[in-house]
Amino acid sequence: MVQKVLVASFVALFVGALLLLLWAIVRFGFVSARRTRGAAGRLRDPDPAAVERVVGFAPPPALAAFYRESDLAARTEVTLVDGAASPPARWFVGAFIPLAAPDVREWRAVSGVPGVPVATDGDKGTYYVAADGAVRLRSPDVPGGDVVVAAAAADFLRLPVEEEPAGRAAIECPDHGAAYATFVCRHLADGSGRGFVCFDDPDDPYPDAWCEACEATRARAGGWDEESERVAGITVRCHHCYRAIRERAAARPAT
Ligand SMILES: [Zn+2]
Ligand SMILES: [Zn+2]
Repeated sequence: MVQKVLVASFVALFVGALLLLLWAIVRFGFVSARRTRGAAGRLRDPDPAAVERVVGFAPPPALAAFYRESDLAARTEVTLVDGAASPPARWFVGAFIPLAAPDVREWRAVSGVPGVPVATDGDKGTYYVAADGAVRLRSPDVPGGDVVVAAAAADFLRLPVEEEPAGRAAIECPDHGAAYATFVCRHLADGSGRGFVCFDDPDDPYPDAWCEACEATRARAGGWDEESERVAGITVRCHHCYRAIRERAAARPAT
């Protein structure tokens, strides 16, 4: 008898859990998709007045202007770079969320953000504009509360998009964080090299580069050979380091 009751309770628990799971799938999958159907059409047609009725405050005018005018609004999977932060901050955007009542209502329910959800972070996080006008990121992956991304929506939406160099390995730079691998001679890498020499490649914003001394060795050898490559000691630097090296070389008078 006791066993029968136990089995019955387990079955009840199991069925309950299954129903809960089904509800979650329907609630956040199917229903979400249905409620936010037509989102692509609403993306470039913001409705700030309707959003104000949902969130209880007026979205900043820069936000509506962004959706109407900026091509960035329609882009997905982009990284915005805040060069004013030190080290520069990189904000990955999975997709922008339309400034329209159905989308804002649904994203607030799913993410729990208190303001106007603006974009997804490509994972589980949501960028939103708070009542004080600041842009914050709420993500279950970031413990310890929401992260301030920008003081105002206009600042966030103005950030330049980081164009990813094709075919480059992703690396973690100690100074710049997530970045792409580029190659320079060890003299350019350690700051001792003069000049900046590289083969021009219109398809590659970061062609391998070396200093004047390495170029002299290479010219004597009639091209790269074992000896000139040994002298150059080609080294990996991130693409931000590469830009800084190139700018330093351009700023310094030739010797
Ligand atoms: Zn060199
Ligand atoms: Zn770097």
